[in-house]
Amino acid sequence: MGFSLEDVERYARHLVLSEIGGPGQQKLVAATVAVIGAGGVGSPAALYLAAAGVGTLRLIDPDTVSLSNLQRQILFDNADVGQAKVKVAQRRLSALNPGVRIETFAEALTLENAGRLIAGADAVLDGTDDFGVRHAVNAACVAHRVPLVSGALGRWSGQVGVFAGRPCYQCLVPDAPPDAETCARVGVVGALAGVIGSMAALETIKLIVGAGEPLEGRLLLYDGLSATTRTVRVAADPDCPVCR
Ligand SMILES: [Zn+2]
Repeated sequence: MGFSLEDVERYARHLVLSEIGGPGQQKLVAATVAVIGAGGVGSPAALYLAAAGVGTLRLIDPDTVSLSNLQRQILFDNADVGQAKVKVAQRRLSALNPGVRIETFAEALTLENAGRLIAGADAVLDGTDDFGVRHAVNAACVAHRVPLVSGALGRWSGQVGVFAGRPCYQCLVPDAPPDAETCARVGVVGALAGVIGSMAALETIKLIVGAGEPLEGRLLLYDGLSATTRTVRVAADPDCPVCR
């Protein structure tokens, strides 16, 4: 498959990178990425993945845009309040890069439909803040052998991890914490969503083109208040019901 002159210009900064180049850009164009949640993490991630030329983006989110989303969910603007997030996102991402195919699913991901929603994806990027959804996404990714890039944030800090088989996300978080903190309850700095969403998009691009060392089996923790990061290994849980 060759690139049009327009593609060569659009992806010029990728094409000169030795880790991407023509072959890597072909992989991006051929790839399907499922983005779970068009929220704080999913917004910048989807924008960068569309800009990067990922061939098919599958957006899964049951919500409509609300005013309180606009502080960090940069896919949306004031006129979008009340509209379905996936439909607004589809318009915005298609305007950014008409070559990207956008599939939309305005439904909540559950244990029952997760397999259908991620089927055929080369990578899944999960930016939801609901542990039930996160565990369902993880189980489907392990069952279908699809790598999972997970981003989470709250207050001033966030984390990004890549799970491909074992250890899995369930090894890291075996149970949903009973008093799980959500951004709605504890707050979050908007720009932090940009940091974590962009890191998640970057890890997804690395996975697709095979560049560098993926964050696989590791968790990168970013503390925005102290401007520090650290990376820790994720241990496989010997009793994990999902990946064991
Ligand atoms: Zn596991």
